[in-house]
This record gives sequence, structure tokens and C-alpha cells, in this order.
Amino acid sequence: MKKLAILASVSAMALGAVEARADYILDILHTNDLHSRIESINKYDSTCSADDEKENKCFGGIARVRTMVSDRRFAFGKEKANLLVLDAGDQFQGSLFYSTYKGKAAAEFMNQIGYDAMAIGNHEFDDGAENLGEFIAKVAFPLISGNTIAEKGSVLDGKYKDYVVFERGGEKIAVVSVLAADTKETSSPGDSISFTDPIEYLNGIVPKIEAEGINKIIALTHVGIEEDKRIAANVKGIDVIVGGHSHTLLSNTDEKAYGPYPLMVDNPDGVKVPIVTAYAYSKYLGELSVVFDDAGKVIAADGVPHLLDSSVKPDAGMAARVAALGAPIEELKTKQVGMTSAPIDGDRNSCRLQECSMGDLVTDAMLDRVEGQGVQIAITNGGGLRASIDQGDVTMGEVLTVLPFQNTLSTFELSGKDIVGSLENGVSETADVAGRFAQVAGLRYAWDESVEPGQGRVKQVQVMENGEWKDINPDKMYKVVSNNFMRAGGDGYKLFKENGQNAYDYGPGLETVVADYLSKNNPYTPKTEGRIVKGTSFDMAQAETSKKEPMAEMPKEEPKAEMPAATPAAEAPKAEAPAAEMTKTEEKPAMAETGDYVIQAGDNLWDLARKFYGDATEWKKIEEANGVENVRRLKIGDTIKIPK
Ligand SMILES: [Zn+2]
Repeated sequence: MKKLAILASVSAMALGAVEARADYILDILHTNDLHSRIESINKYDSTCSADDEKENKCFGGIARVRTMVSDRRFAFGKEKANLLVLDAGDQFQGSLFYSTYKGKAAAEFMNQIGYDAMAIGNHEFDDGAENLGEFIAKVAFPLISGNTIAEKGSVLDGKYKDYVVFERGGEKIAVVSVLAADTKETSSPGDSISFTDPIEYLNGIVPKIEAEGINKIIALTHVGIEEDKRIAANVKGIDVIVGGHSHTLLSNTDEKAYGPYPLMVDNPDGVKVPIVTAYAYSKYLGELSVVFDDAGKVIAADGVPHLLDSSVKPDAGMAARVAALGAPIEELKTKQVGMTSAPIDGDRNSCRLQECSMGDLVTDAMLDRVEGQGVQIAITNGGGLRASIDQGDVTMGEVLTVLPFQNTLSTFELSGKDIVGSLENGVSETADVAGRFAQVAGLRYAWDESVEPGQGRVKQVQVMENGEWKDINPDKMYKVVSNNFMRAGGDGYKLFKENGQNAYDYGPGLETVVADYLSKNNPYTPKTEGRIVKGTSFDMAQAETSKKEPMAEMPKEEPKAEMPAATPAAEAPKAEAPAAEMTKTEEKPAMAETGDYVIQAGDNLWDLARKFYGDATEWKKIEEANGVENVRRLKIGDTIKIPK
């Protein structure tokens, strides 16, 4: 139907301009950010189970991509259409297929599908420039990235293109490409690779391409939708943008889409530029038809992201090859490491903007592993958490899908001041839903989104010390655990790299640490507990909470005794002399006597239960002995009963 509509409009235009040749239609099939989802995926974008496959609950996978590309290619072939099949980057990283085969599996399958070109994505550098070079040597199509500069004589020098010119139906089409300029921070390209500003680069190259007499220019980008919009608005001469990197869904029917497909943005001349991108993880194949007039100006653009659900049958030959390659890693994947009583939320829109239950799990596991070394604080990047885990049995394969980067634990010492500075970096790009957002354990922080990035968004930071939250001391050195990627300055964590002391970056693999922790805490109950709050302080955040939620609701928010959360009742004591004395008392909970107790500043039922019973989960005993009304608001100076 879509095709007919376009053709009808073209004929109408052609009739109006007798002298003109027939308008030129270019069809583009496109994918982006497959992130090694070679096998099909479930609704959480992680590897789909055999059971789900039987129940037709799976999406995508490379064999479904092949089926849809073949079907569309066949249909276009009958129309003698002008077709380009493009990938906007980030084929690498995200599943055991990548961990096991690096780029080899993707190269084989992309060759069979018959891609015409691919943009270099930031994750193509995850295993260094050399590994990307091996991928490029295997693929039968060019990789493109004009603002990626390889040092003369280095491993990637001359291995990829600035732009490529295709000829379709007697017309020349140039495909240019740019990559996010912060790729040094988000991946590991090494010292021989540098990046220039995408818009500056494009403003330089587009007039040169036009000077060659080419008037159809497609930007195949890996910069994210916001930068794509800036490119459209700031660069003349680009006709279409096919993007990736932000995992954005554009659709005319899906309510959750970021915008329409295509998204139209005015260029500096007021010409509308269609932008398309097709989510991620092999879930969609984008299809755009663009109509150009004689001068190479886009006069119509229309299309759809095809959802690759179970109605699309995986290509049998490719599915068999996927299974064959998967066999050696199947055993590892199916190994059960534990179970979870509820889904563990690792969605990027949670973990890159707020505390998420996957962030709590992973940082708790990291801290648990190195607590014996005196480490107090765990910080990991929300962008390092790549999937959610569904309720029930948890397999090693699922853990690896969440943590596919093969990152290692990194321990080091850092001053309180630099920890606060690092958290400030973490909340500096929330408008872009950037991966740097800090998930934490052993530490909690309040941040204020109304403050400009980098200007003091982080308002209060507290560290768990001897069972109490204490304001962080800027001058004190704390022992921190993070991952080797962040310790190398990744995601903007320069302070980890430059000021971290006594560092050890080659600890156990993050996925192993989390798998072990799930086994140890089996069954696992996912949680969030107010480690990261929005506002100017925990006092404010709690005041808000206590208005909404009565005291009786408290235990739902605090399922774990060893890591008590902010409670609605009262704020944790500040780090001052009397608090230090209280700490000593609390170290020996068995010594506290039961009976009458006078409420002091900072008391809450949770802490009192730990103080008197050595077990915070016993708080209900105190509530029962005093009545819910009497303990809902603990007032300083009130006397309450502490039963035996
Ligand atoms: Zn990317």
C-alpha cells in the first residue's frame, strides 16, 4: 500500500512537469545496534529461551533479519527498485556470540545477508582497533567512518572509507558516515585512533562530494538521535540520515516510539531531511523509500520499521548455522546460577536515569566480593548493564547478556572529593540517557536535575560506615570497587584514572562475580532502596516519601537487613562525635538492654531492631509492642517499649 501511495504521488508530480525525467526512488533497508543478538531475543531484549521460541514469544535474531531482507529484496527486485541495505553500527558486544567469536559470526552472517555498507559504531572498538581490523578483513562490504582518524601506518589506516559512492539505476548515491566523538570514553579504540567533530566533518566533506557531481547524499551515522537532529539542522546537502547508537525506535503506530518514521527535520535551507533509525537488538528492519527530483532534492519519504516478531520465520539455513555456532557455548549458557523471585530491571531507561534493581544487584555483588579487602563503596556505570532478567531460574547465559563486556573488577583508593566529582560526572548526561549514570552500593547520593550538568548536581553523598550512613568526608581516602573500563577513564570517569591510587584492575570477571553472588543469595529478591534520590538531600527526599507512605509500608522498601535504606521515619545520624559513640554501641548489638528506650535524633525502627536484637528485620516486634500509631512518627524524647 505504501509503495502505491508513493508511486501515485510521483506520477502526479511527473505529469505536472512535462520536461522532467521520471523522479528517482531509492529504497533503503537498515538495521542498527544489533549488539550481537545473533540468536533471537525475548521481550527483555536478551537471548530467547527454547520454550519461549516454541510459544512464539521471540523476536529478531540474525536469521529473522535475513528472512525479512530477502523477502523485501525479492519484492524490490520485481519492481526493479534501487536498493541499499545498510547497517548503522554496533554489531559488536552484547551476547556470548560476541564474547566467543568476537566479530567473526557477525561478519559471516552480514555477508550472507548482503549488506552494502556499515557505519563503524563505538562498540566496534571494544576489543581494540586490531579486532575491528580483523572484522573488516572478513566482510564483503565497506565500513565507513569519516570523522574517525586512524594514525598513518596504524592497524586501521586505509582499512575503512570516508564515504562510498554507489550506483543504482544509473544514479550515483554517496554514503557518508560519522561516529560519536566521545568513543574514546565509551570504548577502547586505543591511541592510534582519534575522532573529529561530526558536524564540522560533514560540513567539510559534503560540498566536496557535491563537487564530484553527486546530488544524493545519505549520512549513515552512529551518533544517536539528538546528534542526528543537529546534523540535519546544521549541514546542507545531506538528503537522508540513517542512524544508530541511541537505540531509538521511530514508528507511526507504536505509542512508545520517540517520534514518527521518518522523523523530518529542517536543514539550514529549510529543506526537510528524513531521519530513520530502527531501535536495536535485531528487533526491527527499517525500510525507507525516498523520492528525489532531478536536482537530487528529496520530495517524498515514507516507510516503516518492520517488527521481526514470531510471524517472521527465521531463515532455515542461517538458523542452522546459528545453532551450530551456538552449540559449544550452549552448555555454559544453560548452567543455572540461581533464581530470582521477581524480574530484575536492567532497562536502559531505568539504569541510566535512576537506581535500578539490576544496579543494586550488580553493585552489591561487586562489594560483597571485595568487602574483605576493606572496600566500602561500589560504583558501576548504568550503561554497562545491558539487559533485564526475568523471574525464575537465572542462567549463566542471562547473566552474560546483562554483563557481556567481560569487564573485570577494579579496586582502588579515591578521596571523598573525587568520589563526589565522579558521581557528578555520572549525572552529567542524563538528558542524553548516557551510560555513565552511577549505580552504587555502600554509598547513597541525592542529585538535583534542575542544576546545570557539572555545576553541582550532586547535593549529598553518604557512605555506609559501621552500619550507619555518614556524610562523605572530602579529604578521606575510601576504598572503591568499580570495573576496569571505568578505571581506565571510560564513560568520563577521568578521576578514577587520574587520581585512583593503589589500583588493581584485573580482578574476577564482573559476570562471574554476579553469578556467584546469585548462587550465594539463592533465591534472590530484587530491590531498590533509595540509594539514589532526586532532591537536594536525603532529609528532603524522606520528607517527600513519608508524606506519601505510612510507616507500615516500610518493610517493602527495605527487604535486606545488611543494607538498610533511607527510612521514612527519620534521617540517619550525621557524622559527628555523638554518632561515633553510637556506632560503637551498635557494633555489639547483643549488649543493648531491652526495656524502655528514649528516642534520639536519627532513630528509626529498622536501626533500633538491629541495635537491640542484632537483626533489623525484627522491627515489627517493636511496632507491635507500641502500636502502629505511636511508632509511625518517632519524636525525639518520646519513650517507647523495646520488648524482649
Ligand atoms: Zn553505539
